[in-house]
Amino acid sequence: MQLIDGKAIAAQINAESRAAVKELMGRGVTPGLAVVLVGADPASQAYVRNKDKTCRELGMYSEKHELDAATSQAELLALVQRLNANPAVHGILVQSPPPPQIDERAIVEAIDPRKDVDGFHPVNVGKLALGDADALVPCTPLGCQRLLVAAGIETRGANVVVLGRSMIVGKPLAMLLMAKGVGGDATVTVAHSRTRDLAAVCRGADILIAAIGQPEFVRADMVRDGAVVIDVGINRVAAPDSPKGSKLVGDVAFAEVAPKCRAITPVPGGVGPMTIAMLMQNTIAACRRAGG
Ligand code: NDP
Repeated sequence: MQLIDGKAIAAQINAESRAAVKELMGRGVTPGLAVVLVGADPASQAYVRNKDKTCRELGMYSEKHELDAATSQAELLALVQRLNANPAVHGILVQSPPPPQIDERAIVEAIDPRKDVDGFHPVNVGKLALGDADALVPCTPLGCQRLLVAAGIETRGANVVVLGRSMIVGKPLAMLLMAKGVGGDATVTVAHSRTRDLAAVCRGADILIAAIGQPEFVRADMVRDGAVVIDVGINRVAAPDSPKGSKLVGDVAFAEVAPKCRAITPVPGGVGPMTIAMLMQNTIAACRRAGG
């Protein structure tokens, strides 16, 4: 069984990003990312901190905007517009989920699609569906695909089951894997909460990708011998024995599934680090397209 080390693969990609940043800076351009957080959700704060830190480590320009939980839609829109107009900022990310008074869809649509490094703007969703090379693609699906390629897992002709159909993970991932080319050309099935006989559908997968947000949902009887399993899930569950009283688990019951697999990602240390690495790559790509 091969344990796919997302941390090591992300570190390699970050090294490539660092070199790309250096090269761009040699030409007088510094890729810049602005991350916006509304409110004080601890998990979101940790994500935003991590993104800001990685940006700086790679030599990029980083702006972190932490706004009060009571920020209005108009105030947030005004900030997005300022960032759209700022030539030092090539990527804009508004951390999800925002507080209830914020219309997230309207905020995403206000971001200049060329700076939409999360890949959630309808223009980028459309470009991905069309197979346009200049689409900005959501970071987690992009990270899953890169992980498969880097781990030497052939997707061409493979039966892939994507468990979950969200716009953040499942749906864009299915589009990436069915696209023509390296890391694509798969026969993709997307399963969700309405799928009949889910276990049998999952057992049909050469590559099973779980993105449902249900702790340890995928059990051994849902996985065929020799399958590759990518676990996107990040779930905090109670763990009375650990010093923190809680721990992170994926959507896959790792201990019982891993022995059946040809390859599997751990949680943490699998898809998670790839997401930030791909955010940095998207920001560099946006900078290059802006003329950097
Ligand atoms: P969503 O809640 O938006 O979507 C969950 C999807 O899973 C839905 O399509 C839902 O089906 C499906 N689903 C839920 N329960 C079941 C079930 N019992 N059986 C079958 N399908 C089910 O989640 P996200 O896509 O945003 O996130 C999924 C997981 O990935 C979460 O654990 C999240 O924390 C993690 N994540 C990790 C990231 C990373 O960086 N590693 C980044 C983003 C997310 P339906 O549509 O029918 O309701």
